[in-house]
Amino acid sequence: MESQSSLPVSSPAPIAPPLLNWAGNYRYSTTRLAQADSVEQVQELVQTTDQLKVLGSRHCFNGIADSTQQLLSLGAAETDIYLDAAARTVTVPASITYGRLAPYLHSHGFALHNLASLPHISVVGACATATHGSGIQHGNLATAVRAMEFVLASGEVRVLSQENDGDEFQGAVVHLGALGVITKLSLAIEPTFQLCQDVYENLPLDQVCEHFAAIQASAYSVSLFTDWQDQRITQVWLKQRLTPGAQLQQAPPDFFGAPRATQNLHPLAGLSPINCTEQMGVPGPWHDRLPHFRLGFTPSSGEELQSEYFVPLRHAEEAIRAVAGLHKYLRPCLQVSEMRTVAADALWLSPCYQQNSLAIHFTWKPDEAAVSQVLPLLERALSPFGVRPHWGKLFILSAAHLQSQYEKLPAFQALMAQYDPKGKFRNAFVNTYLANSL
Ligand SMILES: Cc1cc2nc3c(=O)[nH]c(=O)nc-3n(C[C@H](O)[C@H](O)[C@H](O)COP(=O)(O)OP(=O)(O)OC[C@H]3O[C@@H](n4cnc5c(N)ncnc54)[C@H](O)[C@@H]3O)c2cc1C
Repeated sequence: MESQSSLPVSSPAPIAPPLLNWAGNYRYSTTRLAQADSVEQVQELVQTTDQLKVLGSRHCFNGIADSTQQLLSLGAAETDIYLDAAARTVTVPASITYGRLAPYLHSHGFALHNLASLPHISVVGACATATHGSGIQHGNLATAVRAMEFVLASGEVRVLSQENDGDEFQGAVVHLGALGVITKLSLAIEPTFQLCQDVYENLPLDQVCEHFAAIQASAYSVSLFTDWQDQRITQVWLKQRLTPGAQLQQAPPDFFGAPRATQNLHPLAGLSPINCTEQMGVPGPWHDRLPHFRLGFTPSSGEELQSEYFVPLRHAEEAIRAVAGLHKYLRPCLQVSEMRTVAADALWLSPCYQQNSLAIHFTWKPDEAAVSQVLPLLERALSPFGVRPHWGKLFILSAAHLQSQYEKLPAFQALMAQYDPKGKFRNAFVNTYLANSL
């Protein structure tokens, strides 16, 4: 991965306060935001700054990307994408979003194995927190990383690859921004493919618990949406991968007792599906079916909060019953929940490290006080199952609990000490959850 371009250094320019995350619920602790458009500019900033954090597309809901001194945005100037068709990899600059990468790959005949619910997220920020899509066979988006180029605290450029750096690479891929400034990522790609998407309504919760494995295995990607009321899943989104040349089969009218929807739907009852990806079995390219929301639309104005919890798949039924038992506490503050599965991986800080997982997601109303009342109930209900939170969403689990869930944390701490001995890339979040026992 060679560094490119040498544009004039953009001096750190204070911008008008406040500097907020996408949802507007988190105000970063400084308004000092520098932009670097080349690796050389990143090196210069890193060498002349005591503490900094990089902002991706700011889609995290907590202080993971915060800095009290200096924020850095990797600029749009470096936009080159390198496709290596023979090696089946694509190398991207840190500023890129899935929304820009995916159509490019498709137009060149390639695809990624999976995508998150919306394409507006930065690739680097998503991989940093182990962002995931759904599918019992598919690892999170970070499992596609094959190599990473980053600037260490010393200003030195380092490349780690799956091929050459084995364990160290597995440790560094999900890094929560704590190892350095990522300037490029190489991702595994595969030939482009098509999917079709069908939605089923009102699947009884008993059916989900009784046939969980069969339901999760029934499509390339399965999402179960629910408000946890009335003992049912409100919508099941099935994304079926199509075999090239095979005749398109119409989806059955019934799915474990749930009837197939007769029109496109939004996961939130009553909202227009206009910004949702096409349903009703209409085939389309992977990047226009795997996300729930279309690239051309902003999914919402950010008027939401999110939390998400991972439990080992073997506890799925008990965990679902435990959350369903909280339905009356969830009702006032929940917009919608989504359950997905994620395959086990070998990435040290991934919530799915060595365990196939059920991810139970909550899109909350933008009412932090109400959400903070319900999170302890949820976390208590899920704690018997070794719950791990999504790193980029709201949670209040203790550092001690998190540390007990990550057996590779001491090894990751050694990586932090090696790459960043003085803690240049640490912030309150990193110090609390990753570094407090250093
Ligand atoms: C509407 C919405 C939908 C979502 N859907 C999903 C979903 O389907 N599945 C899921 O798992 N998650 C989902 N998320 C969560 C989201 O994917 C993660 O929070 C992800 O980390 C966001 O990436 P970002 O770049 O926007 O985050 P940021 O908050 O900008 O950054 C995240 C972390 O990456 C670090 N970072 C970013 N760029 C660099 C860099 N170049 N070098 C070093 N560190 C860097 C930051 O410092 C920070 O620690 C969703 C979030 C929203 C708001």
